[in-house]
Amino acid sequence: MLGAALNIKLLEMCSKCGACYSICPSCVNLPGYDPREVIQDIVAGDWEKWLLSKSIWQCLECHYCLEMCYQHYGFENAMTAMRAVATKRGIFPVQVKRGWEMFAKTGKLGEPAMPARKKMNLPAPAASGGEELKKIYALLKEKRRGQG
Ligand code: SF4
Ligand code: SF4
Repeated sequence: MLGAALNIKLLEMCSKCGACYSICPSCVNLPGYDPREVIQDIVAGDWEKWLLSKSIWQCLECHYCLEMCYQHYGFENAMTAMRAVATKRGIFPVQVKRGWEMFAKTGKLGEPAMPARKKMNLPAPAASGGEELKKIYALLKEKRRGQG
């Protein structure tokens, strides 16, 4: 299941490299977060235990590792693939579920911090597009009904 979503040959090289560990904000700031351990276990075929770990949800998807990587591959791909498998099995943090539900309802993943924006002289954020999202959901629902 996981092997089909990942290039194991590139991950093998990644597991021996580790160059982007020092520029990953989660690696630097979150004790215990180390994608190299997850990748080594993926390469060894022993990755199932990580589905229950909070580590796979601590990747920020900031793309730093992809931008720096000489193979344009690595940390982020592994963590994204692990989250996808965990989600399919119904394993995810409650905060993530809340975020999905809020996005489906409003088109936003969270409320903007207005006092902080004001303090920094930032303009009001653009509209979320929640209404358009609702229309797309309605169209998808209709399409599925037509296929069923
Ligand atoms: S993602 Fe790329 S640069 Fe980072 S450790 Fe893996 S192979 Fe090295
Ligand atoms: S995408 Fe994830 S693994 Fe890569 S640098 Fe950002 S936080 Fe770290």
